[in-house]
Amino acid sequence: QVAAALAGYRGPGATRDGHQVQVLANVQDGAGARAARDAHAEGVGLLRTELAFFGRTEEPAVAEQADIYAGVLEAFPAGKVVIRTLDAGSDKPLPFATPPDEANPALGVRGVRTARRDPGLLTRQLDAIAQAAERTGTSPWVMAPMVATVAEAADFAAQVRERGMSPGVMVEVPSVAVLADRFLEHLDFLSIGTNDLSQYTLAADRLSADLADLTDPWQPALLALVHAAAAAGQRLGKPVGVCGEAAADPMLAVVLVGMGISSLSCAASSVAGVGGRLATVDLATCQRAAEAALAAADPQAARAAVREVLSA
Ligand code: PEP
Ligand code: MG
Repeated sequence: QVAAALAGYRGPGATRDGHQVQVLANVQDGAGARAARDAHAEGVGLLRTELAFFGRTEEPAVAEQADIYAGVLEAFPAGKVVIRTLDAGSDKPLPFATPPDEANPALGVRGVRTARRDPGLLTRQLDAIAQAAERTGTSPWVMAPMVATVAEAADFAAQVRERGMSPGVMVEVPSVAVLADRFLEHLDFLSIGTNDLSQYTLAADRLSADLADLTDPWQPALLALVHAAAAAGQRLGKPVGVCGEAAADPMLAVVLVGMGISSLSCAASSVAGVGGRLATVDLATCQRAAEAALAAADPQAARAAVREVLSA
């Protein structure tokens, strides 16, 4: 049954009983967006704009940035496209944006924090996104990475709204999940980046193979924070999606939908697996799977408990 659903997945994403869940793709350019469309993604849940910046010694001009963003927007003229502003720093250093000599770069000036050193870097990027939106007649959602405080979110949201676009932030720092309601007062949506949220919740480097058991997205503390953010979204009637690696795991996708997550964004190659799996379960089963995962003591127990719910 699962294999058949997977082979036949054409989108849009929904559970067997018709509860809609957008299945989106993580991309970095127009070619990636077109490949995602061919893979039946409904849109882009995460445009990593780093491509426009990395390998450069200087910031790309606004017009050049706008061309790259427009290439992605053109692939989904009527679909959702979430553009993330520059996520430089830590494992992605940039000579013109991040300090060269931090002792703890993962906890340093990265993501939206780069705008503290150079506010124009962010405003010029937002101008480029707004130009691309206008040129393509589309309405992208725009989100910031590595936000930690409500004040940062409110400031970012004001700059995005000034340009007529819809603001959100990524949930990568545990503080955002803990206070998700307060963040959402200023924002239209949240998108959970489980790769970094795992790293900062378990205090384990996401690149360390030795610590992969700690950054496992089935860790109970990570699931509890995802649940907190999803519940806040449901209380306030605002979408909360997942765009980290967790969204590419079909069994975990079932759990996330059961928690109230409204969109899943993964590599284009995982879209059919996730969308196909969701089509085989009803929402009540997703909710039972979520309860089972949240009650489990560790990742192994969570996987076993969900497998049991799904085979019942
Ligand atoms: C994440 O942190 O989960 C995420 C999607 O962002 P990136 O992997 O680009 O850090
Ligand atoms: Mg991240």
